[in-house]
Amino acid sequence: MSQGTLYIVATPIGNLADASPRALETLAQCDLVACEDTRTTRGLLSRHGISAHTLSLHAHNERSAGERLLEALRQGKRVAVVSDAGTPAISDPGALLVAAAHREGFRVIPIPGPNAAVAAYSASGYTAERFLFAGFLPATRAARRKALADLEIAWPLIFYEAPHRVLETVEDLVERYGADREIVIARELTKMFEEIARMPLGAAHAWLGAEQHRQQGEFVLVLGPGAPQPSKEVAEGERVLAVLLEALSPGEAARLAARISGESKNKLYEKALELAGREKKTVR
Ligand code: SAM
Repeated sequence: MSQGTLYIVATPIGNLADASPRALETLAQCDLVACEDTRTTRGLLSRHGISAHTLSLHAHNERSAGERLLEALRQGKRVAVVSDAGTPAISDPGALLVAAAHREGFRVIPIPGPNAAVAAYSASGYTAERFLFAGFLPATRAARRKALADLEIAWPLIFYEAPHRVLETVEDLVERYGADREIVIARELTKMFEEIARMPLGAAHAWLGAEQHRQQGEFVLVLGPGAPQPSKEVAEGERVLAVLLEALSPGEAARLAARISGESKNKLYEKALELAGREKKTVR
């Protein structure tokens, strides 16, 4: 009996021509296709003349449907998992099934393709070497603000957002990261009314409000990189230095602050001279 194999198949996020030949070939060859909404996936399959057995696998039945899919894998079948759009298991169901497949030793094969976060980032023009995919923020304002308060990262941040919350979320982003930080708003990617606009956060609310259709459709928000956060040693070194400078010379204060914090003595000495200079100016 052949070994059961689970294929994670990415499907288009709008433009149906983005279904890759390999994705279609895989779907055509699988014994069972697990999909979020069977009607959506059947639309894609029938467009390409593929008649596959489908089974629904969504957020509310991932465990029970997962058991049926695992049974198919145990029988040596080829099972594909797709979501309504994009890559399964990325802000979509699929990860629990993948984890279970690994636990039971089945082969797991990704068929890569469309993903809204990566498409938006690739069109952002940010040159940072890393970014954080933050997915959907919480739906309520208080929880969203709390989640943002915890995101102390200077890398570009990628969020998914629903159209009816996008204005409120932009307001919360301005409050958290300041009006000068940049944002790329990517809406309706790969679709007829695709728009990708880069602007300071402070201009985003007006941009979204400028046309009625701008608050409709699907959104990815890509926040640009922030100012680098000082490391723990730098922050601690500067805090200790400021206290010691009240009683010691810049050289002595820098030497002790370096020993306490682990930050470089030379850097702290430069900082001490800067702080001492600033202090003298204020006294005068
Ligand atoms: N698994 C999908 C992927 O790989 O991108 C994401 C699914 S998640 C449930 C749906 C969210 O992805 C939307 O609310 C939106 O934030 C984003 N999204 C999906 N398609 C999009 C598109 N064509 N344009 C912009 N954002 C999109």
